[in-house]
Amino acid sequence: MKKVKNRGAFVLLIALFCVLGLSLYCARYVMHGREWASFAGGGTTMGLLYDRNEVLLADAGAGTYSEDYTTRVANFHVTGDYIGNVGTGALTRLNDHLTGFNLLTGTYHTETPKAHLTVDAALNNEAYAALAGRNGSVQIVNYKTGELLCMVSSPSIDPANPGNIPDGAYLNRAISATYVPGSVFKLVTLAAALETINDIYDRTFYCGGSVMVGGDKLNCTGVHGNQTIEQALANSCNCAFSELAQTLGTDVIQAYAKKLGITDSHALDGMYTAAGSIDAHEVGNINLSWSAIGQSTDLVCPNSMLRLVSAIGNGGTLVEPTLVGHGRRLKTTKLLDAETAEKMASMMNYNVQYAYGAGSFPGLSICAKTGTAEVGDGTDHAWFVGFLDDEEHPYAFVVQVERGGGGLSVAGAIANRVLQQAVAN
Ligand SMILES: [Zn+2]
Repeated sequence: MKKVKNRGAFVLLIALFCVLGLSLYCARYVMHGREWASFAGGGTTMGLLYDRNEVLLADAGAGTYSEDYTTRVANFHVTGDYIGNVGTGALTRLNDHLTGFNLLTGTYHTETPKAHLTVDAALNNEAYAALAGRNGSVQIVNYKTGELLCMVSSPSIDPANPGNIPDGAYLNRAISATYVPGSVFKLVTLAAALETINDIYDRTFYCGGSVMVGGDKLNCTGVHGNQTIEQALANSCNCAFSELAQTLGTDVIQAYAKKLGITDSHALDGMYTAAGSIDAHEVGNINLSWSAIGQSTDLVCPNSMLRLVSAIGNGGTLVEPTLVGHGRRLKTTKLLDAETAEKMASMMNYNVQYAYGAGSFPGLSICAKTGTAEVGDGTDHAWFVGFLDDEEHPYAFVVQVERGGGGLSVAGAIANRVLQQAVAN
């Protein structure tokens, strides 16, 4: 009898080991299955990466890229490479999809896995050419679907033949860097003013070329005289925005910078964008004025600015941007009241008609804001941000050129060139 008992216990013990072993395997499979699949060695299971128009960007099985040099360089930051040098690249981020890996079936599949990015590789090529060797970034998003049609960062490299790597070439400037925003930040101050100063449309803003704030002199770029709020934005008048800053105070400006997503980091297909920063200054301090003008210590990520203009174009509701073109549910975030967004859109259109010259953007129904941000070493970052008020081409854009010079002349010209190609498609 005792013998039988012992045998029973032995069988139970064996069963227990089996269950334990299987559990351990399952746990390890869930934790490491992806790596096993990736390192299986059978290159035939690896997939193909395309742009939105079936232009091949990478063949992960062969370990190769596009055959076209320009396509490789201009699309490097969204494609990435096989070493993982660019964390924002699809070859790193979409590894599961490209290996066809899935927890239920492993890498079993009947055809080569494919992934599509939302970008138009040819549009990226045009944007990279328009940057013409200058450091910076260009982004265009469809503000109704959130699809990023264009995302280019310069300098770049040819991943197939890296050669000498320029400084900062692995950085995707569109999403992983922050810059002094200059006057494009006036959109944040404007949103705060429209929603918190009741008689904003009845006010007159005077500019005599400079204004004294707390004993310090704040200069404007011109002598704008008496202006409405629309004219003050179109003139990008520093005196008017200094007055707004001192009326609003640092708490309101910082609250709006946060509400509009400028000071937070945002998820973009599992990546995180760089958070901006706006320091606090007391009323009466000239730095409060400079901060509302986008100078002082302000820093903004180009992609956060894209989210803002995208929301303005879409009536205040942001459709969160994406780079991945397969089966995604739209995610929306309300940044502004519809009424505020409509007012801002109309003022950004007035900017173009009144100050920038619609002739610089032939055929485009464009609403925009320029920024020429003083960096502190005598050079300026050039910014041009906005959107097309166009049902057929609902595109928001941000162009940023490091130490590029004038917002309108440099970044505005690049925006026009790339948008012309975008609407021609
Ligand atoms: Zn002025």
